[in-house]
Amino acid sequence: MSCATLIDVNRCTGCWTCSMGCKNAYDMPLDEYRLFIRTIGGGGIDQAGGEWPNLYLKWHPVFTKKCLGCRGDSTTGNVPYCVFNCPTGALTWGDPEDPASGFSKRKEELLDQGFHIWQQPEWEETRDGVFYAEKGI
Ligand code: SF4
Ligand code: SF4
Repeated sequence: MSCATLIDVNRCTGCWTCSMGCKNAYDMPLDEYRLFIRTIGGGGIDQAGGEWPNLYLKWHPVFTKKCLGCRGDSTTGNVPYCVFNCPTGALTWGDPEDPASGFSKRKEELLDQGFHIWQQPEWEETRDGVFYAEKGI
């Protein structure tokens, strides 16, 4: 079974809970992250871009090559810790080859709602199997 992660960008609030859940689960050093949150805005963390009143601000969780693509454990219902800890339901995980998986069903749902699905370019050197869903881009 292959595994993929779907990020609903329109639900992401940039809270970093996914990243912290991963760090805590793996007891990682303070300065090490397998997943970080990129602010799409004015350049700094949580800084809006544009000029008032035409401001924009959103976040892209970025799964680095250090991400294990893990499946969590029984305490999370066998979903990855990042997915389990996201408070907004922005992350979905599952087998992209299985039409009945959570990943496939959510992807279809978002496509039906007019979301655009995309992946990071290769030069970003991110983990394979990560898809972004965005509406209004
Ligand atoms: S899939 Fe696993 S290793 Fe990767 S960010 Fe999520 S919890 Fe961390
Ligand atoms: S994916 Fe979820 S947990 Fe991660 S920053 Fe976005 S809203 Fe927070």
